[in-house]
Parts: sequence; structure tokens; C-alpha cells
Amino acid sequence: MNRVLLVEDDPQIRRFVRLAMENAGCEATEAASVADGLNAFGRQPADLVILDLGLPDRDGLEFIRELRALADTPILVLSARGLEEDKVVALDAGADDYLVKPFGVPELLARARALLRRARGEPAPVILRLAGGAVEIDLARRAVRRDGVPVHLTPIEFRLLKTLIGHNDRVLTHRQLLRAVWGEGHSESGHYLRVYVGRLRHKLEADPARPRHLLTETGVGYRFVS
Ligand code: CA
Repeated sequence: MNRVLLVEDDPQIRRFVRLAMENAGCEATEAASVADGLNAFGRQPADLVILDLGLPDRDGLEFIRELRALADTPILVLSARGLEEDKVVALDAGADDYLVKPFGVPELLARARALLRRARGEPAPVILRLAGGAVEIDLARRAVRRDGVPVHLTPIEFRLLKTLIGHNDRVLTHRQLLRAVWGEGHSESGHYLRVYVGRLRHKLEADPARPRHLLTETGVGYRFVS
């Protein structure tokens, strides 16, 4: 059974999330502050942490930094609507994903499942079929085919696609993508990303203007959904 640690000071949200996770077969432990959360994790490490950023004693970001010094347990952040900068800072500090309040149970469970799957080390699929099978991506062979016809990707395009696919269902910030694809020193070159994501969409998406797989997270980064 997966153990979930829920760090949230709002009792109603805490109850709502706890019930959702318990109904999904998880065991949930609750904490209402950064100090309580770190103590609870120290007593019994969790498989997933669901973390509110606005906590009464300290900033949730400090929880992320302290937990990251101890463990690589996935962290799902609960964020207030519209605070994009907060999401970026939380992801860069080591959170794995975020949900914007208010959120529904299906969305919560989908994010939690994706993080738990990844934490179990289940390998990314080697061959992906997108858009009903029209696009086939074979990561091991660096081969992409669309309607059976090979699609040429430049090395940068391939590296960007591979990075996004390696984080299937999880958001990557602009900074994380720039570092992974272009390396240190390019973390401010956000326009590269827009250009290359646009090229990938034209090569892979059925409708590049309404992408279904290479999704924009406004103000934050990009997310690949298979
Ligand atoms: Ca709060």
C-alpha cells in the first residue's frame, strides 16, 4: 500500500484529499505545518508528499528543500490559483508537480498515480503511439515515424522530445528544459524553447495549434502527455 503524507493547514482540503487518497487505496498521514510534516516524514517516510505552500509556521518551499536533502520522494504541490511564479519556484526547488486549487478528485488521483509510478522506477515506454497510432516514437532507436513515414528530428528537437517524454505527465519548467537540452548557461533563453516546441508540434501534432501531447503550462513550462 502506498503511504501518502499530506501537509496542509486547511482542515477541509486536508479531509478532502485524505478521503480521495484512502479511496484510491493509499494510507494517508496528515500534518498541518512544515514542522509537523518533517516530523511525520522522519517517523515514517512516505511514498508521496502532497504539500500546500501556504503553511502557518514556515514557507512550504522550505519543506521542499529540507525534504530534498533527505529523500527523493515525489512532491505534489497544492498551489493557489494564478501564482505562476510560486509554481516555478516550487518546481525548481525540487517539487515534482503541482495542482491549482480548486481541483477535482480525478485530477488529484491522476497526478498522484503518475508520481507514484515514476517513484517505483517503472521505465518510460520505449515506443509511444500518439494521435491514435499515427505517430510512433522509438526512443531507443531515435526514430520517429508519422503515418509510417520517417520524420526527421534535429538532435536538439530529439533531445527536447526525449526530455519531455522522460517526464511523461509531469510539468517541466522553462529553466529545467533549457538546462536539460541546451545545458548550463542557457537557462534564460526562453525563446529557444518556444521555437523548438513549435517545430515539434508541427512535426508530431495532428493540429499544431491545438496540441494534445506537447502542452503549454502558461508561465511555467511544458508537459508531455502521451
Ligand atoms: Ca494553506
